[in-house]
Amino acid sequence: MNCLFCKIISKEIHSKPVYEDESILAFEDLNPQAPVHILIIPKKHISTSLDIKDDDNELIGQMFQAANRIAKDKGIAEKGFRTVMNCNHDAGQTVFHIHLHLLGGRAMNWPPG
Ligand code: AMP
Ligand code: ZN
Repeated sequence: MNCLFCKIISKEIHSKPVYEDESILAFEDLNPQAPVHILIIPKKHISTSLDIKDDDNELIGQMFQAANRIAKDKGIAEKGFRTVMNCNHDAGQTVFHIHLHLLGGRAMNWPPG
């Protein structure tokens, strides 16, 4: 499978990891949109959020728990942060391996662009 994020998990492509366990990897976004911009991904390949199955519910919870831990570690938890998962083209998904964007360190606008 020619998946960029699977290659990051297998270390075939370099990233800057900030957290890793047996089911999750988190690393710095290459093109940060905020002072803190981390991507949290499952090690299991899931293409879009539409492909999340009942069996994946625990994994998705672990992704949010990782985001919370990283937000606290980075000192952005109290002020606030945003977690985003884009699905398909209209939302701007460009990498088809699900990833939770963790964005913080500045005030966010709403509605998003
Ligand atoms: P999305 O547009 O929601 O699919 O998000 C994909 C994200 O992956 C973007 O924010 C990109 O900047 C980021 N990205 C693409 N390639 C890499 C890479 N090699 N390492 C880290 N982040 C990447
Ligand atoms: Zn993948």
